[in-house]
Amino acid sequence: MITLIHDQIEELTQEKYDQLISKLFNGQKLIKSPCCEGGVLEKHGYYERGYKALNGREEIRLKILRVRCSACGKTHAILLMEMIPYARAGKDIVLTVLSNFESNCPVSSILEKVGGLVDENDL
Ligand SMILES: [Zn+2]
Repeated sequence: MITLIHDQIEELTQEKYDQLISKLFNGQKLIKSPCCEGGVLEKHGYYERGYKALNGREEIRLKILRVRCSACGKTHAILLMEMIPYARAGKDIVLTVLSNFESNCPVSSILEKVGGLVDENDL
């Protein structure tokens, strides 16, 4: 898993994701692999995942790029800094839930604060 740190974006969409990925690969011919010295990342494929934004209107589906290390063949998904690995809820939702949970806020109240897209399964 690789997390891409980027300038703040107002609303995450597939188009914005694709623009950031394009900028990453076009700005630099060879991207060093995080797993092997001498390895470089090659585009390998895409998978689809859901993403829920804080107070978002609907869960969006994103095609996430998977890259492969040229040295060992290991694959890595490229996520954006708004995303949490293995979770559909975005970073802002998770941070809101955690800070309210630590303040002993009831779960029903936390769910109201993060919007209608989030349910107990996301917590
Ligand atoms: Zn490797």
